[in-house]
Amino acid sequence: MRKLPRIRFAHLPTPVDSLPRLSAKLGGIHLSVKHDDETGLAFGGNKTRKLEFLIADAQANGARTLITTGAVQSNHCRQTAAAAVRYGFECILVLAGEAQEKPDGNLLLDHLLGVEIVWCSPDRRDETLQAVFDEAWSAGRRPYLIPYGGSNEIGVAAYVEAMREYLSQGDPADTIVFASSSGGTQAGLVLGARLFNYPGRVVGISVDEPEAVLRERVAALAERCAGHLDERHSFSPQEILVQDGYISAGYGNPGAGEREAIDMFAREEGMLLDPVYTGRAAWGLIDLLRNGFFHSGERILFWHTGGTPALFAARYREFLAL
Ligand SMILES: *Cc1c(COP(=O)(O)O)cnc(C)c1O
Repeated sequence: MRKLPRIRFAHLPTPVDSLPRLSAKLGGIHLSVKHDDETGLAFGGNKTRKLEFLIADAQANGARTLITTGAVQSNHCRQTAAAAVRYGFECILVLAGEAQEKPDGNLLLDHLLGVEIVWCSPDRRDETLQAVFDEAWSAGRRPYLIPYGGSNEIGVAAYVEAMREYLSQGDPADTIVFASSSGGTQAGLVLGARLFNYPGRVVGISVDEPEAVLRERVAALAERCAGHLDERHSFSPQEILVQDGYISAGYGNPGAGEREAIDMFAREEGMLLDPVYTGRAAWGLIDLLRNGFFHSGERILFWHTGGTPALFAARYREFLAL
């Protein structure tokens, strides 16, 4: 396996904790958590791992300005902004949505980090991103484009390494469950499972994409990353495990299922989930459990991907109100 350039700034390995109270409450399973909400860098999350590789690649390419895109409450944009500042890059975030008078949650952090923000409507995201890139290029700012979610073959390699890390932390669970969206996290875990012979299931709970779309995306990303690492492995969409039964309210619109999951994790284990990603993934886990998806005594790892700053966005105040 080829060694890729990487700058080590994430707090690794992230801890694995057992969740005995929640396991008892849910009945008959052994649930544990891997805390990628504690990867460091301005409240952490799964993008911190990807950025170790992406920042190294940007440096190797002589870039000076990082450009990326996401939603108003994007965790990816917040972590990219922090990494950019820390390694001396300028940073432009193209956010899909409307400028806010009182920035909160992740957006507040983007402002504190002092990076440039360009607003656009969701349907004009790609063309705005291209225009911002072209302008930065013409102005001699040496821009480097980090794709949505940091999910290209470079970012995905971080979760290949994360799987290696998890397998080195002792007897692994039978099944790994986590929130999946741009697919990079899942692609890395799936490729890592293949390369390091993890025999269990890697189950992505879709946050926003239909199963067929996400399966195809993850398989393609895993295959591209394998090639980038000089490993020849092919992946078919059929072998990618995705559950998309929790997306109907749309991205960033949590409901009763997420609320029950957030409350359960908080009240049984003192552990915080976010309203957009991990709350939805935990809802999926609990619902699948109730529907017999897991066998009795199955050891399940919930891979926490971060996102907790969104708890402090006014948008979710009513949803979280008691
Ligand atoms: C980005 C993100 C995800 C999804 O990861 P992908 O690699 O984009 O699939 C999950 N959880 C949180 C908190 C995120 O910010």
